[in-house]
Amino acid sequence: MSTMKALTYLGPQSIKWQSVAKPVVLKATDVIGKILATTICGTDLHIWKGDVPESTEIAEKQKGRGLILGHEGIIQVESVGSAVKNFKPGDIAIASCISACGECHYCKNNLQAHCTQEGSSGWILGHEIDGTQAEYVRLPFGDHSLYHAPKGVSYDSLLMLSDILPTAYEVGVLSGDVKEGDSVAIVGIGPIGLSALISAKAKNPSEVIAIDMDDARLEVAKRYGATKTINPNKENVKEKVMEYTTAANANLSSLDAKKPGVDVAIECVGVPATFEMCEDLIAPGGAVANVGVHGKSVELKLQDLWIKNIKITTGLVSAYSTAELLQKVTSGEIDPAPLVTHHFKLNEIEKAYDIFKNAAENKAIKMVLTNEE
Ligand SMILES: [Zn+2]
Ligand SMILES: [Zn+2]
Repeated sequence: MSTMKALTYLGPQSIKWQSVAKPVVLKATDVIGKILATTICGTDLHIWKGDVPESTEIAEKQKGRGLILGHEGIIQVESVGSAVKNFKPGDIAIASCISACGECHYCKNNLQAHCTQEGSSGWILGHEIDGTQAEYVRLPFGDHSLYHAPKGVSYDSLLMLSDILPTAYEVGVLSGDVKEGDSVAIVGIGPIGLSALISAKAKNPSEVIAIDMDDARLEVAKRYGATKTINPNKENVKEKVMEYTTAANANLSSLDAKKPGVDVAIECVGVPATFEMCEDLIAPGGAVANVGVHGKSVELKLQDLWIKNIKITTGLVSAYSTAELLQKVTSGEIDPAPLVTHHFKLNEIEKAYDIFKNAAENKAIKMVLTNEE
């Protein structure tokens, strides 16, 4: 049996880079890929902390071996199952965080997050089955879960298409229905918030207000085109948003003027305070698009929201927009490469986790790990 090295999750707060068996094709629709590049997601830290019980259960069942983490990656196809039509050995591809059969009710309705054909959801990689933080990975449903990597685009850029760009775009920008001329607030300027900013800008909003408690991240947001920034530790967020959106009406006739507040608030943190902040910032007819993963109930201010005709959307990424985003990245309309702040070799991944765990103090956004000689 041949072996490989992988980053395994053994149980809460325990990860280890160790030798495990190399994956093989188990189903006709599988693709086995050699990992060329991968990255670490905030969700991997949730699992590491022990906040994802199904992953902990799977990891602890295989004592000492655990579960391989990671759901983002660029691969070189090593072998394919007999039913795989679109990929052959040697192809370079982007692995989506969502494994989709392409044929079930949910896959046909752009809800690949709920694919019924393997595991409890479309997000199974590095969650319910071994993931991409390894030298090799088994990718179920290769034909519907991989995207050919165009030549001439960096792996840094392409890696952002595995998860964070489609997540921010689908669950934030598209669900919130960001349109040309809209005012948008983005709460939480981590990797997802920045991805929301980049992909919202592609819709030509009139104003994008970045909100975060870390001034360094607000500076990054400005570089990416945020028109205003607010640090809640220093300023009253609601007052500032009302002030900025009122000022935007200065040159409009009373017929065209909008009421104060943003058209869309994209929540990218996942704690009650930031969700409740978003509820306070919306203008009539607007939307709160929640992207953050919450562990607790929030206060739903229906008594204020109903009379303003506010829409609230939530979601897990389905990755139905990956092909569209890949096109925008290839054409240069969206350039996510600068989100990558740190590069490591794959075998240094434990060190990369240590830095990513303290992302703010290390000014870390995305860490790329490469596995090329
Ligand atoms: Zn992720
Ligand atoms: Zn499906």
